[in-house]
Amino acid sequence: MMTKPGCVYLVGAGPGDIGLMTLKGYTYLQQAEVVLYDRLVNPLLLEYASPQAEFIYCGKMPKKHILRQEAINELLVKHGLEGKNVVRLKGGDPSVFGRVGEETAALEQAGVPYEIVPGITAGIGAAAYAGVPVTHREHSLSFAVITGHDKSPSGEPLIDWHALANGIDTIAFYMGLGNLPYISEQLISYGRSSDTPVLLIQWGTTGKQRTLQGNLATIVQKAKAAQFKNPAIILVGDVSTLKKGESWFESKPLFSQHLLLGRAGEEPSEMARHLREQGAEVFEFPRMQKKKHLLKKADIPANRDLLFLSPASVDIFFESLQANKIDIRRIQGEFYGISKKTVKAIESYHCFGKEIAERSPDASPLVILGDPEGFHRKEQRYPFVFEPDFIATHSFIRVQQTEQTFSRLQEEERIETIIFPNARSVKTVTEGFQACGETPENISTYARVICFGEKSKQAAVKAGYAVSEVLSEPTEEALQEVLLQKEAPLAAAAFS
Ligand code: SAH
Repeated sequence: MMTKPGCVYLVGAGPGDIGLMTLKGYTYLQQAEVVLYDRLVNPLLLEYASPQAEFIYCGKMPKKHILRQEAINELLVKHGLEGKNVVRLKGGDPSVFGRVGEETAALEQAGVPYEIVPGITAGIGAAAYAGVPVTHREHSLSFAVITGHDKSPSGEPLIDWHALANGIDTIAFYMGLGNLPYISEQLISYGRSSDTPVLLIQWGTTGKQRTLQGNLATIVQKAKAAQFKNPAIILVGDVSTLKKGESWFESKPLFSQHLLLGRAGEEPSEMARHLREQGAEVFEFPRMQKKKHLLKKADIPANRDLLFLSPASVDIFFESLQANKIDIRRIQGEFYGISKKTVKAIESYHCFGKEIAERSPDASPLVILGDPEGFHRKEQRYPFVFEPDFIATHSFIRVQQTEQTFSRLQEEERIETIIFPNARSVKTVTEGFQACGETPENISTYARVICFGEKSKQAAVKAGYAVSEVLSEPTEEALQEVLLQKEAPLAAAAFS
């Protein structure tokens, strides 16, 4: 029997900032079984795909362009025909110099259904993050996107230069940096004034954003001196002068900071959200996934007091009752939670719960439910005084795909600072690095290491990191202050 074809979603990932993808694109990404992504897609977006998804990086396919595109088309068709849910993640908007037309033609020919999810194109997104609107009632009534490179042997685009130079107010050239001398000469020789303002935006909307202002006569020299490279947008037109000093994006306190925030659990942290709001790019590493261990009927304690170590353990306990068709009235023991949050979780099931501190230490031994790591940790913090029984309701495992995100970020030199918010994260992060072929010693040569508290520092030093700073007060403000002293005295960092 033939498999029913799946669907290929050609999704615009936006120009870089992970927040610039549409809700629709994000939803498809979460559901995808296969994700094919380009070099210009922010690797951090991969962290939002399903932990089971297969990732295919298209930036490393054969160098020859035609071959590469054909190979991609074939992969899309192959996975589509296998009935898979496929996301083809493209930088910016898929229809703007994104070769989406070639991909849809191949899919149509093979009878694979597809959808196109538009995205924010770099010409508009990068300009906005540089503080420039591409149209403006006083400066620009028209806007064009132009390729700065085409498939002709010289790569010099064959376009109607006269119409472009004289008819369009704002021009965004893509892939144009290599042809910048040609582009500016053409515009001038076809009648555009040589003092027309030009703005270059490299890696727009990301922490690596750089800009350079000049005019058609000066920009080539300036770009050469400042070593501007693709990916960059060449924005020609009067609107370019609307950039005055640092833009709203560039002036965020943590702009240009690339942080790896260690984590040991599954949830995204408040700290990460705060750091992003301040302009930092944050990679919460490693990505973890909760693996549930539903309890078997025989393992469910019916006559003992129970202590839950987390809301998740409460949920899994009640799910286990349900799965085994055990009525809650058959459970005789009292319920305790390790924290207020956990007690609340107990109460959400219409049961009465108390914080463990309220229990008499002389009472009969408890049964503790939670994840093994959490148990070990809490046992050190709260001496339970007796030998309790422990039942694992779940455990956390590292999501393997996180390794791809790490290696892509590393290739792009986007790992600058490592933050260990607690000693536990040192262990999970180090195991994550090991899976990526990275060592604490090596990463310390190019990234600064910041620890919250002495315990994290001791764990980090023991694992082999050169710790640059230790925060005695683990607050967001204290962290921000340390991050702003950007040049870390790595030479002075202590290995011991
Ligand atoms: N489909 C993409 C464009 C792909 S062509 C879009 O709609 O944006 C690749 C070119 O896009 C790069 O050479 C560069 O000119 C531009 N580009 C992509 N991302 C960029 C970014 N973050 N900053 C500046 N230019 C970018």
